[in-house]
Amino acid sequence: MIKRPDGTADLLPDDLAQWNRVERTVREVFGRYGYLEVRPPLFENTNLFYKSTGETTDIVEKEMFTVPPRGETSDSYTFRPELTPGAIRALIEAKSFAQQAFWKVFYWGSAFRYERPQKGRLRQFTQFGVEALGSEEPLIDVETIAVFAEILKLCGVTRYDVRINTIGCAACRGAFREKLKGILGPQIATFCENCRKRLDRNVFRILDCKIDAEKTAALPPITENVCEACKAHFAAVQAGLTNSGVAFSVDPRIVRGLDYYTRTVYEISSPDLGSQSALGGGGRYDGLVESMGGPKVGGVGFAAGVERVLIALDAAKVAASPAALPDFYAIAATPDARAALFSIVQALRAKGLSGDLDFEGRSVKAQFRSANRSGARFAVVVGGEELAKQVVKVKNMADGAEQAVPVEEAAALIARGRTTS
Ligand code: AMP
Repeated sequence: MIKRPDGTADLLPDDLAQWNRVERTVREVFGRYGYLEVRPPLFENTNLFYKSTGETTDIVEKEMFTVPPRGETSDSYTFRPELTPGAIRALIEAKSFAQQAFWKVFYWGSAFRYERPQKGRLRQFTQFGVEALGSEEPLIDVETIAVFAEILKLCGVTRYDVRINTIGCAACRGAFREKLKGILGPQIATFCENCRKRLDRNVFRILDCKIDAEKTAALPPITENVCEACKAHFAAVQAGLTNSGVAFSVDPRIVRGLDYYTRTVYEISSPDLGSQSALGGGGRYDGLVESMGGPKVGGVGFAAGVERVLIALDAAKVAASPAALPDFYAIAATPDARAALFSIVQALRAKGLSGDLDFEGRSVKAQFRSANRSGARFAVVVGGEELAKQVVKVKNMADGAEQAVPVEEAAALIARGRTTS
């Protein structure tokens, strides 16, 4: 038997109850905050990720699912490792910024990264997130964090931490980069292999290295080395979070793995997740839209991992909402009533009722067992006698009361049963 590929998951009906509850909550909260959905394709031109996610990131260097060009005119395509580049490309391509300068969009969909699979780390996983494009206002940074926290709370994730940082802007980051390189350069031989590679390519990533955490603790904090405008922005974000009642801490180690961030960066993690503790993260990316061919506008957003939210819910023992019980189960009292019974079931479904019947040719007793197991409120029984009189027998499964009525009346009776229970 061929098994599913490593790092993928099958979602079976039992798993999907919780999954769908989370998706409904996410959509409901985003809707309430005014974020509109965008749905870019699953794969994009590979260059899109080189240009936006960034050439020096782990994602682009090591983790992309890339389909090489076929034939001379074709491009190389990559299954999206994150949804931000596709979402922004889609808005630019549709000339959306000519219609309005400010957009709040959200997405929900699969992402693909060729990583070493482990708990909370898959090769195909699902992200939801937002992009708020067209504003440099710190309150929109606050809103993206607040909407993320509200989703977690409403899903039932009770234990999570919000940590924020600032990584400066194009004007001030260069000076801090050189300062860091100056301090780290002479001692880099004592750092791990990854850090050694990052000194020249992406020195900020050394700050979030777990292996060399002790050595980097003594470095000057980035929050004190950004320009006055970035400091004021960061202060306003903190004030906004406090005013909105979102608990947070400042963590100078957060730099995020992607190249495009400026100013605010943040992560929300859960102590229930083990080593892959991030539920999601994001931040501001003021140069990104312009660098992708769009207008010069500010932007901020986050991406969260659905599978990790589900692990946190499991740890918190949050039950999935129970499936809605069917209104009826239809029973053929004699084998030759089956065809007529099917038509009756279709007529009841057409009235908006939910219900099922047996497709395995089982005995009447076994059909009643199925009716019980399904949790249906009513059994609808049809045999030769009922067919002759053009009625169906409706049995209330709770008290056993039965009445024979025409199909139209049965539908009304069953619908009434639903509203009164
Ligand atoms: P990132 O943009 O890498 O910070 O990803 C945002 C969020 O997506 C993370 O915080 C995780 O919740 C989730 N995520 C990222 N990579 C994976 C993965 N390989 N498997 C499962 N979830 C992931």
